[in-house]
Amino acid sequence: MIHPKSFDVIVIGGGHAGTEAALAAARMGCATLLLTHNIETLGQMSCNPAIGGIGKSHLVKEVDALDGAMALATDKAGIQFRVLNSRKGPAVRATRAQADRTLYRNAIRVHLENQENLTIFQQAVTDLRMDGNRVTGVETQMGLSFNGKTVVLTAGTFLGGTIHIGLQNQSGGRAGDPPSIALAERLRAMPLRVDRLKTGTPPRIDAKTVDFSKMAEQWGDTPTPLMSYMGNRSMQPEQICCYITHTNERTHEIIRKGLDRSPMYTGVIEGVGPRYCPSIEDKIMRFADKDSHQVFVEPEGLTTHELYPNGISTSLPFDIQLAAVQSMVGFEQAHITRPGYAIEYDFFNPQDLKPTLETRCIDGLFFAGQINGTTGYEEAAAQGLLAGANAAGQVKGLQPLIFRRDQAYTGVLVDDLITQGTREPYRMFTSRAEYRLLLREDNADQRLTDMGRQYGLISDERWDAFSRKRDAVANEMERLRTTYVHPNTPAAASLADKGEVIQREQSLLDLLKRPQLNYAAVGHLSGLAVSEEQVAEQVEIGAKYAGYIARQQEEIDRLHRSEDIKIPAEFNYETVDGLSNEIRQKLNDVKPLTLGQAGRISGVTPAAVGLLLIYIKRGA
Ligand code: FAD
Repeated sequence: MIHPKSFDVIVIGGGHAGTEAALAAARMGCATLLLTHNIETLGQMSCNPAIGGIGKSHLVKEVDALDGAMALATDKAGIQFRVLNSRKGPAVRATRAQADRTLYRNAIRVHLENQENLTIFQQAVTDLRMDGNRVTGVETQMGLSFNGKTVVLTAGTFLGGTIHIGLQNQSGGRAGDPPSIALAERLRAMPLRVDRLKTGTPPRIDAKTVDFSKMAEQWGDTPTPLMSYMGNRSMQPEQICCYITHTNERTHEIIRKGLDRSPMYTGVIEGVGPRYCPSIEDKIMRFADKDSHQVFVEPEGLTTHELYPNGISTSLPFDIQLAAVQSMVGFEQAHITRPGYAIEYDFFNPQDLKPTLETRCIDGLFFAGQINGTTGYEEAAAQGLLAGANAAGQVKGLQPLIFRRDQAYTGVLVDDLITQGTREPYRMFTSRAEYRLLLREDNADQRLTDMGRQYGLISDERWDAFSRKRDAVANEMERLRTTYVHPNTPAAASLADKGEVIQREQSLLDLLKRPQLNYAAVGHLSGLAVSEEQVAEQVEIGAKYAGYIARQQEEIDRLHRSEDIKIPAEFNYETVDGLSNEIRQKLNDVKPLTLGQAGRISGVTPAAVGLLLIYIKRGA
């Protein structure tokens, strides 16, 4: 039996949300118990072994800025790193890493096992223990019970999970793992709104049966980008090549012929799938005019021959999967090691959550990850960290930790979920954030590490490194502002060689604002430039985008003046004349905490927000 039997925070599920939740609560000094089906699958990537990408890397860097594990584990496991949108502005640049699945899992497990205050126990949770409206602990499959002052549920795709391949289906949490049936039933009996979603994964392929000479190569970037602010290149394993092939008209014909045995097209699957990561059968039906789709052929690791063919997720019957795969160039002799499949699972309407991710109806019970209607490891990790921190914060009597939309993508994610809800798996994009120029992946530490430190989430080691960097950026900005280049000097001549003429003395900072010049060209013109990449990057972005950043900040300041106006908990929308029944209903459903949140509920008009403001000021 585990001692103690009572914990401050209990986390159910050791996926991407659960591991960050458990680590966050333990970092804050709370006695934390992580209960998961199988210790071998801690940090398991159910689908593509890749972390980051557009919008998603912003979340990973925020998790990192708050001292979470995902980014460092990616640096230790990444076998191909790239910066996407590298030619575009810094707001939409994103880092993506293909990871070695096993190295990633190991890195997460080592992190968990070395975390103080954290106990890990392999057990399925079957029930929640309650005292009135408050959760007080959990019960497990073996009949063990644990007391918890707060509980964070992160059960992923496991609640009532059903796996589909063709017209065959079976219960499962993901291939090879059991579903959570008892817990799902228990939760369905609670006053939470439950629905079904669906996601899918492609068949995996044995690299020994693939002809790579017929495929285009795709190498990562050199030097390799880093995912973590604390990462360094010596942690990164060997870097390897990915490949590209395509579907063709024959592939599409094979797939069309299989649709009469597709669980999606015969109505067997009812849950809605991810719009931005559709199955190949979906792509072929939705984009009927396209005769080819790209397939990225990505290794699953350094020590395995398995490949992940990114772009052909499917739940078609196995014979169709095999014929479709073998119709593609380079895959003619391909052996499928694991069939593709779709999974349907329970998720909870996130409008039933507070901004801390605590459920509105059960005190002390927090939800994070896929069960809130999101898809993706990164979305799960960000929610997990926030839920774990708030669960610990509640135990310690702290104010809730909430990020605003102008502070973090995590804030955008949670605000979108709790305000708008979702009818399909929600994934992050940079386009979801109004203040993209402020919420860059390069400055997540500057936005969040200080807040995290105050909340007790940040280790001394990270805090020292962050403080050094922050000071170095400030010092270098100051040096650039106060160091001048004069005409007719060697420094001016070196600029002239680059086609940049200076007529009068100019500060290095002003020179850096010129579109054709970068920090590498300007920093060393007079005095010593900084050598740390992260500092140089901040200085360059800070100089070049100063005007835009200041304008965005002004806009935010203006908005805050009304955005932050609190709506009293007991506010009665029935008393507000002029609100339509529909708007009243939506406000009652969501119960927004601020006017800003009210304004973002779909269908709540600016006029309605104006009315609310009048009534709040009157003290209605
Ligand atoms: P998970 O990673 O699923 O972790 C849940 C954890 O909880 C597991 O460790 C499980 O064992 C544990 N658990 C569950 N119930 C209990 C219980 N009762 N007691 C104890 N432990 C429990 N994402 C994308 O972005 N794109 C995709 O294309 C994509 N495709 C996917 C395809 C499939 C088939 C699956 C299964 C997932 C896919 N995902 C995809 C989603 C991605 O895997 C999830 O978004 C991410 O893993 C969610 O993290 P999580 O922590 O919420 O849940």
